[in-house]
Amino acid sequence: MGIKVAKFGGSSVADGIQLTKTKQIIEADPDRRYIVVSAPGKRFDGDNKITDLLYLCKTHMDHNLPYDQVFQVVTDRFMAVELNLGVDVNLQSHFEQIKEQLRKGCSADYIASRGEYLNAVLIAAFLGYDFVDAAGLIQFDSKGRLMQKETDEALRSELAKHERAVIPGFYGTDAADGSIKTFSRGGSDITGSLVARAVGADMYENWTDVSGFLMADPRIVKNSKPIHKISYKELRELSYMGASVLHDEAIYPARMANIPINIRNTNHPEDPGTIITAEQEETTTVVTGIAGSKDFTVIAIYKNMMSYERGFVRRILAILEDFDISFEHLPSGIDTVSVVVSNKSIDGRLDELLDAFEKQLNPDTMEVFEDISLIATVGCGMSRRSGVAASLFTALADADVNIRMIDQGSSEMNIIVGVENKDFEKAVRAIYNAFA
Ligand code: ASP
Repeated sequence: MGIKVAKFGGSSVADGIQLTKTKQIIEADPDRRYIVVSAPGKRFDGDNKITDLLYLCKTHMDHNLPYDQVFQVVTDRFMAVELNLGVDVNLQSHFEQIKEQLRKGCSADYIASRGEYLNAVLIAAFLGYDFVDAAGLIQFDSKGRLMQKETDEALRSELAKHERAVIPGFYGTDAADGSIKTFSRGGSDITGSLVARAVGADMYENWTDVSGFLMADPRIVKNSKPIHKISYKELRELSYMGASVLHDEAIYPARMANIPINIRNTNHPEDPGTIITAEQEETTTVVTGIAGSKDFTVIAIYKNMMSYERGFVRRILAILEDFDISFEHLPSGIDTVSVVVSNKSIDGRLDELLDAFEKQLNPDTMEVFEDISLIATVGCGMSRRSGVAASLFTALADADVNIRMIDQGSSEMNIIVGVENKDFEKAVRAIYNAFA
């Protein structure tokens, strides 16, 4: 028998109806032995996620406002699910404990984590699986960083004692004081990946409400083709640019252990979804996906004989460090370097930044292009193929899109272009049509 770790996201575990589908999926394959769950998500447009409501309790608490009503909405939802599923886990006693902690002024991390905790308790009972708390197993250091090795060992030795278990996603504990600590939002994906590595799973299934990744954002490209297979590396390039089905940090643990990740749709379990693996075997696909985001600034710095000057780029980076800005790209020419940074990271300090460049770099000229979008065209099939860049640039020229910046990753797996924000959607569609 193999081992599959199946993580179910908020919409897959939002209510009794969804949980019935989830149970059918789990029971359809006896390999699905370790189940990681999110807190109940939205049941319909405009509904609330339990995690959001729990954070709201904390906000009320911090402002000395009554939080009972908000907490009541949370407890009502769990009680309805308990009734619906016909299980009895004595939710009331759990609610009392949580209320007690709220009265004592618990942390935001603690209260937020209770959505996953309560859901896992309920789902374990519904499935007849053991409940294994993530507290004490998933461990963080005092700076909030995941302790990889300790976590892996603790999960491995605990889960070895359970043939089948449900584990709450999203949180663990501070190793020093035992207090609850969460990952960033959407972090149950990371829990699933950690569990998959710890139990040596053959597959990490991530069940959500879409049938995997699409080649391009469906809000921009209608009926975009699905991606059936993608490598970890390609996905990294795409998620970095804003394709968000899976938490960025969820790839690493599975990747370390070479465990494929399969994104699946709870509402359409018959769809194969997207498989994420180490390497794309010989593929006929040139471009795997296209992703991008808006609102970047390009600062082009020109200086005659720059290439002979030692430490020029180091000084640029030192200035960025002073401003606490991380750059996205740094394309360079003989006498020019362009610094590409997000508008968000500039945070209204463009004039100050330019002033610092002026004073410390003494450039001949600088040019600033604001409101730039970056578009990454990603595919490991690209390096083996000639003419990819030509097709891409021709497609953009035909669509009358002016390219403000080009950067090809050294992996030859992606080509990044900078275009004006107003051309963003048009450019994505042009690239998609050229390669889909
Ligand atoms: N419930 C958490 C959130 O809404 C974590 C997760 O679902 O992955 O962010």
